[in-house]
Amino acid sequence: MMQAGLHIDLNAIRANWRALDLAPETGAVVKADAYGLGLNRVARALAQVGVRSFFVAQVEEGVALREALGNGPEIYVFSGLMCASDAVHFRSNALIPCLNSLPQAADYRANIAGHPFALQYDTGMNRLGLEAADLAHLPDLGTPRLILSHLACADMPDHPQTLRQLSAFTAMAPQGRRSLSATGGIGLGPDYHFDITRPGIGLYGGAPFDAARPVVTLRLPVIQTRDVAIGESVGYGATWIAERPSRIATISSGYADGLIRAIGGGGASLWSGDTPCPLAGRVSMDLIGVDVTDLDHDPQSLDILGPHQGIDALGKAAGTIGYEILTSLGARYQRHYIG
Ligand SMILES: *Cc1c(COP(=O)(O)O)cnc(C)c1O
Repeated sequence: MMQAGLHIDLNAIRANWRALDLAPETGAVVKADAYGLGLNRVARALAQVGVRSFFVAQVEEGVALREALGNGPEIYVFSGLMCASDAVHFRSNALIPCLNSLPQAADYRANIAGHPFALQYDTGMNRLGLEAADLAHLPDLGTPRLILSHLACADMPDHPQTLRQLSAFTAMAPQGRRSLSATGGIGLGPDYHFDITRPGIGLYGGAPFDAARPVVTLRLPVIQTRDVAIGESVGYGATWIAERPSRIATISSGYADGLIRAIGGGGASLWSGDTPCPLAGRVSMDLIGVDVTDLDHDPQSLDILGPHQGIDALGKAAGTIGYEILTSLGARYQRHYIG
C-alpha cells in the first residue's frame, strides 16, 4: 500500500532549537500536536537536547505531554484554568496554568491554591492575559513560576507596537522569572529574551526564523497519469486548459488532507527531485492534478513540501502563512520520523 508520507526530520528540529537557544533558558512550544508534527516524538526529541520547559495551549495537550515526557520538565498551559473541574488535571499531571484574568485567579485560589502557577499579562495584543489595571485587584497567590506576555508584531521588525509592548511588560513585571518572546521576538535581540523564550514555529522550520533548517517533506503518491490534448481541461470548473500536448499526473491528496484549496490558485508546484511540476486545476477533496509534461518519466510520487518548497513558500502561494499549512496537514498522512 502506497500511502502519502509526511517525513519529519527530528535532527532538524533539534538543530533549530539549538540555533534559537540564545536566552538564559529556551523552552519549546508544542501546542496543536507540535504544530501537527506529532507531540510525543517531537517533545521527546526536544527533551533530549535539553528543553526543560514546554508550553501547550490546552490542558488536554498538557496531560498528553506529561504522559510522553514523564516527570521532570515543566509544562505550562497558556489557556489556564478554564473551569473548576480542570483543577484535578493540573494537579495530577503537575501542569502549570497560566492565569489570564481575575476570574481565573479566583478559580485557582479556590481550587488549587499553592500549586505552581504562571501569570500571563496582556501588554497590547488584547488576546489573553491580565491588564495593568487588574494587577491591583489580584489576590495574593504566592510567587508565580513565570510571568509571560506575547508580542503581536514581532515578525515586523520596525513595528512601533513591539517597543510599546516591551515597555509595558517591564513596567507590569519589574522583576520575577519572565518570558516575552516566541520565535519572532528571539530575533529582536537580548532585550527581548528575559529569562526564558518560547519558540514554536522556528523549531519546525518556519518564518520568521529565516535560517531555520527545513523539517518536513510531504511525499504524495501518483494514482494515475494520462495524456491531455491541447484545449482539454483538468479538474473541477475546467479552470486549467492544456496549451500544449500535456501529461497529467493525479495524486492522492487534497483539501481533506489539509492541502487547502487556495494553493491551487497561487502557482504552487509539486517536485520530482529537482524538477518543478505545476499544479493543474483546482485542488479536489482527495485529489490534485499535476502537469508532469516536462519530466522524462511518469513519477511514482511527487513532493509538495521539501527543500525546494517549504511551508512558507506553499503558504504564500495559498495566501496564508507557514503556520497554517503545517497545522492543517491531515491525520491521513503516515508520519515517518528521521533521527
Ligand atoms: C503559539 C505561541 C508561541 C509560539 O509562537 P511561534 O510564533 O510559533 O514561535 C509562544 N507564546 C504564545 C503565548 C503562543 O500562543
